[in-house]
Amino acid sequence: MRVGIMDPVESHARCPCGTGLVYGECCGPLHRGLAAARTAEQLMRSRYSAFAVGDPAYLLRSWHPDTRPTTLDLDADTRWLWLEIVRAELGGELDAQGVVEFRAKYRVDAPSGRSSGVQHEVSSFSRVDGAWVYVDGEA
Ligand SMILES: [Zn+2]
Repeated sequence: MRVGIMDPVESHARCPCGTGLVYGECCGPLHRGLAAARTAEQLMRSRYSAFAVGDPAYLLRSWHPDTRPTTLDLDADTRWLWLEIVRAELGGELDAQGVVEFRAKYRVDAPSGRSSGVQHEVSSFSRVDGAWVYVDGEA
């Protein structure tokens, strides 16, 4: 088992993505490379959870090679509070493309002050070697 950045998230804690499942039975196995997302929505949820638990390596790994940034620094002052899936188109087990619209609420506790907001995005997904990856998103 990997140690490090994900240690604060217990496997029996509720998964940040909001399915109601515990992390160890939801996005945890995806983050650890023990399971693969079956649908675009599942990949989207696991990427939200990766933001929430602070796992930039998973975010890069699940990003399409053509659009993936070289490095990714997560803002330590940002806390992701909840995720709402607005709609999902295609992205099923037999699809090659998928679109997921979501809203994600966050709070920023910076030394300079507090703020909060909702990120609303329509994300595109496709498959690389059979595995779902994030392509890009429109706010
Ligand atoms: Zn989850």
